[in-house]
Amino acid sequence: MSELAQSIREKYLQALENIAIAARSVGRNPSEVRLVVVTKTQSVEVVRAAIEAGVPILGENYPEEGVMKIQSLSDISAVEWHMIGHVQSRKAQLVALNFNFLHSLDNLKLARKLDRFCAETQRVLPVLLEFNLGGEESKSGWDASDEAHWAGLLDEIRNVTALPNLQVRGLMTMPPLGATAEFSRPFFRKLKHLQEYLRVQFPQADLSEISMGTSADYEAAVQEGATFVRIGTSIVGARQYKTEA
Ligand SMILES: *Cc1c(COP(=O)(O)O)cnc(C)c1O
Repeated sequence: MSELAQSIREKYLQALENIAIAARSVGRNPSEVRLVVVTKTQSVEVVRAAIEAGVPILGENYPEEGVMKIQSLSDISAVEWHMIGHVQSRKAQLVALNFNFLHSLDNLKLARKLDRFCAETQRVLPVLLEFNLGGEESKSGWDASDEAHWAGLLDEIRNVTALPNLQVRGLMTMPPLGATAEFSRPFFRKLKHLQEYLRVQFPQADLSEISMGTSADYEAAVQEGATFVRIGTSIVGARQYKTEA
């Protein structure tokens, strides 16, 4: 194994250990939580090393960048590729054809486009519904910051769950950026509460997955019920932004 892969493996195993400790601290089984290693902005070499290190699920934020990596690594990838960033409608086809899972479905128009492209290629795409719980203008996701407005979301969600080539599997959120895990915790609780509410409204739907928690706060997310955590920097290092020419 390369030195880079070795170093990623150590941090990956450490994160798994921290997840297990957090899960057990609240009586959860650690196997209920899956770790998505987020590789946005990282080079193909880093992603290759992560695969070599044994990482089974990779998360990407930008459709083109993700597809470039998926294609470059198609020789080795027995990995799952998860799209976790906002998807513009015109990128729906790229996502529908190349990714195994979408965490960030945030509007009905995108859902309909994805469903159509999946139907054309006879695929079913598992998706999570993304909710904006902090009420920030800049964040994507259905606005669920005010509980009094939850009922107003039901029609759209019903329409999404009715699409035959999308398989709704649960909920996702990205809380406002805070300094500490304790700042994020109330948002994690709120997503869990929203899951319970939607399960009552849609008893026939599968809403079992909860995607929440990043490097800064994944242990709190696990304690509050996450089934997916999305960890980037603390496993693969700082993001590699290209400097604009
Ligand atoms: C970048 C990103 C992450 C990972 O964040 P880190 O701080 O690197 O762990 C998780 N989720 C989403 C939606 C992201 O965009």
